[in-house]
Amino acid sequence: MTALTDRMTAALKEYRAWQEPLLTDLHRHPELSMREERTRRIIAAQLAEFGYEVQQIGGGVVGVLSRGEGPTVLLRADMDGLPVQEASGLPYASVHSQQDADGTLQPTMHACGHDFHMVAALGAARLLAEHRGDWSGTFIALFQPGEETAAGAAAMVADGLIDKIPTPDAYLGQHVLTSPAAGKVAVAPGPVLSSSVSMRVRVHGAGSHGSMPHLGVDPVVLAAAIVTRIQTLVAREIAPGDFGVVTVGALHAGTSANIIPDQAELALNFRAYSEEILDHLVEGVQRMVRAECEAARSPKEPEFELFNRYPVTDNDPQLAAQVREAFIAQFGPERVEHMDPVTASEDFSTIPDAFGVPYCYWGFGGYAQGREAAPNHSPLWAPDLQPSLSTGTEAAASAAFALLGRG
Ligand SMILES: [Zn+2]
Ligand SMILES: [Zn+2]
Repeated sequence: MTALTDRMTAALKEYRAWQEPLLTDLHRHPELSMREERTRRIIAAQLAEFGYEVQQIGGGVVGVLSRGEGPTVLLRADMDGLPVQEASGLPYASVHSQQDADGTLQPTMHACGHDFHMVAALGAARLLAEHRGDWSGTFIALFQPGEETAAGAAAMVADGLIDKIPTPDAYLGQHVLTSPAAGKVAVAPGPVLSSSVSMRVRVHGAGSHGSMPHLGVDPVVLAAAIVTRIQTLVAREIAPGDFGVVTVGALHAGTSANIIPDQAELALNFRAYSEEILDHLVEGVQRMVRAECEAARSPKEPEFELFNRYPVTDNDPQLAAQVREAFIAQFGPERVEHMDPVTASEDFSTIPDAFGVPYCYWGFGGYAQGREAAPNHSPLWAPDLQPSLSTGTEAAASAAFALLGRG
C-alpha cells in the first residue's frame, strides 16, 4: 500500500496556515444537531472552490470529484456541536448560542471534536483536488449533520442520498479521541463502537397521603425495585465474555415528602457490540418492569418508548487491513495502534449499510502523551490543535489516496 507522494505530504504542511484559522472559526461557532446552517455554507463554499460538484442532501453537504475509471472512495465527517457551555479556557472557545428544536436558547460547543473532522476532511478534499493527476476514480467528501442525535445520516438517506451520488466501494470516517496520543492513529477490524438505544419507562402507582401507604401503590418503591432488579440483566443473562451496559440515567417521581405520587419515570441507556445482545437487554428490561409492576399491584400497564437508536460500527476486516497498511506506509508502524472497541456509539454505519458497502472507522489522537485528557462531551474538552489536526488530515488523505486508482 502506497503512502502519499512527497509532494502531497509537503502540501499538507502548507495547508496548516489555512486549516488552523478555519478550525478556530468553526470552533467559535458550533451549531446544534440538524441546525448546522452556517457550517454547511462554509463547507459547501470550500468544496466548490476546490472544484467539487457540490450537493446539499438531507441537511448535509456532499462534494464529488471524478477522475474517470477506478474505485469510488467516500470520506465522511460529521458537523454538529453539542448543547454544552464551554469551559475549556481556549482562546478560540465558543461564543455561540443557538435555539434548539423547542425554541430554548442553548450554549453550543464543539465538545466532540467534529470541528477537527470537518477541517481534516476538507484538507484531504483539497489535497486530492490539487493533485488530481496522481490518482484515478472518484473521491466523495460527505459532511453529515446530526450525528449527536442519530438523526443526520438517516436524514441524508431519507433525502435520496443513495440515488444522488455514486455508490462508494469504500466508506471511510474518523474520530478524534483521548486515546491514542496526539500524532497517532488507531484502527482495527470488527466492532469498534457499540450499538446503543435509549428508553423512557413510565410506571403507574396510586397516589396517597405519605402517612397512609396501604391506601395507595407507591411508584417510588416500584421504580427503586426496577433499578436494582435490572442490574441482574448483564450480570446473569449476558455471557461473561460478551459486552453489555444498562444504565438508568434519570429517575423522576413525586414532588413532596408526604405525598405518595401516582407515577414514576425512568430513562435508560443500553450499549452492546451486537444488535442481538442490545435487543436482549431491551426485552429483558421490559420483562422485568412488567413483572415488578405486577408484584407491586400497579393499576396500569407500564409504558415504554425507545429513542436514539445507534447501529453498531463493525469495520470490514479487509478494508480495515488496507487502511492500516496505508497508515503504516504514511506514519510508520510506531504511530499506528490497534483500536480497542469504544463503548460510545455513532450513526456512521447508517449510510454504508444503506448502500450495502464496506466501511472503516478509525481514531486519531487529540491529546499529547501524558496530558490529562478531558473526554468527549466534557465542557473541558480541548484537544491539542497540533499535531491532532495534521494527523487527522494525513490519516484521511492517505487512506483515501491508497484506496483510489493510480493516475
Ligand atoms: Zn459526540
Ligand atoms: Zn463525535
